[in-house]
Amino acid sequence: MSLDEFALIERIARRTRARADIVLGIGDDAALLQPAPGQQLAVTADTLNAGVHFPAESAPADIGWKALAANLSDLAAMGAVPAWCTLSLSLPHAEGDWLDAFADGLFALADASGIAVVGGDTTRGPLSISITAIGQVPAAQALRRDGARVGDDIWVSGHPGEAAGALRLWQQGRLDVRGVVADAAHERLRQRLQRPMPRVSLGLALRTCAHAAADVSDGLLADLGHIASRSGVAAVLQADAVPLSAALRTALGDAAALDCALRGGDDYELCFTAAPERRQAVQALAADLALPLARIGVIAEGRGVHCEGDAGAGRSGYRHFAE
Ligand code: ADP
Ligand code: MG
Repeated sequence: MSLDEFALIERIARRTRARADIVLGIGDDAALLQPAPGQQLAVTADTLNAGVHFPAESAPADIGWKALAANLSDLAAMGAVPAWCTLSLSLPHAEGDWLDAFADGLFALADASGIAVVGGDTTRGPLSISITAIGQVPAAQALRRDGARVGDDIWVSGHPGEAAGALRLWQQGRLDVRGVVADAAHERLRQRLQRPMPRVSLGLALRTCAHAAADVSDGLLADLGHIASRSGVAAVLQADAVPLSAALRTALGDAAALDCALRGGDDYELCFTAAPERRQAVQALAADLALPLARIGVIAEGRGVHCEGDAGAGRSGYRHFAE
């Protein structure tokens, strides 16, 4: 069924949650939002283009989920509580069934995280989803990239590389990303690519515990490089401390698994630094959240990211990733 623009907007509008801090939501020229006293707003935007940021054949529900997940992951990395978002859609056709399935995925995650859709834009064009998400964080408590200190431990959540592993399998024609697959290891990787879980609770808990944080969307080395350069320090990573999941190693072998974990994107895990005195607190957090947190290196004086034991760097010593 083909929808006109207003029917399409109406289908989004009726699915979104209410929030007391939305003075005016979808339907006017702009939304009016009432931040809570003492809170700063964390604002982030991400665009996902078909064929660039997700396989064009992906299930529409997965596309909706992932578009929001990428934004929530940025809020998580700031330690912000998700509040509101706008949704700008460029669609080749206004298909009701497609839109409903897309909304199923998007609102499954939106409802789980408490975020409301308060506006957006709808145009015809190649499939592209652009979301701007806004979160709230108590003044001066946000997690930033520029707070790492010499002597800090470097930590990462979850099992980086799994999404990149799934993408590799798909590129090799070994994984159908459209729906559940029988092989358990492949299915786990497919979920990590198509349904990434933004680490919002972890980000909130890290406000009192971490010095710096970033989400891993461009690859662990690259995102750690951002923390190092913004903080004016060096990051020294131990490749053999990076947690590789059994699923990833089984699917790709150890060398490719490490390469995915260090250089693959789309993980939406959090990389953060914290003082060594915080080790027990971080480990307690891992237990509380039932989310593995691995200590993978240290912050040192200097510049760039040095990865000890990274064969992919072309030598067995360490690699200068960014200067
Ligand atoms: P305008 O011409 O003033 O930009 P639109 O006709 O584009 O208004 O949008 C009408 C209302 O619907 C606005 O409140 C806008 O924020 C909202 N809207 C448009 N597209 C979307 C969308 N894809 N998702 C959510 N809200 C949307
Ligand atoms: Mg408009």
